[in-house]
Amino acid sequence: MAALDPELMKIVENRVLNKKVCRKCGALNPPSATRCRRCRSDNLRPKKKVVMKK
Ligand SMILES: [Zn+2]
Repeated sequence: MAALDPELMKIVENRVLNKKVCRKCGALNPPSATRCRRCRSDNLRPKKKVVMKK
């Protein structure tokens, strides 16, 4: 049975959310990045947590 394990969901969530998004080109960068790997801009923002809706 492949039920959705809440613990697993947390890990997946963290992996998805733990990224930085470039404000200029929208590329995803690693959380440790200070500059965009695509356009070299330092205008990065952390990806916001999405509120779960039922
Ligand atoms: Zn960029």
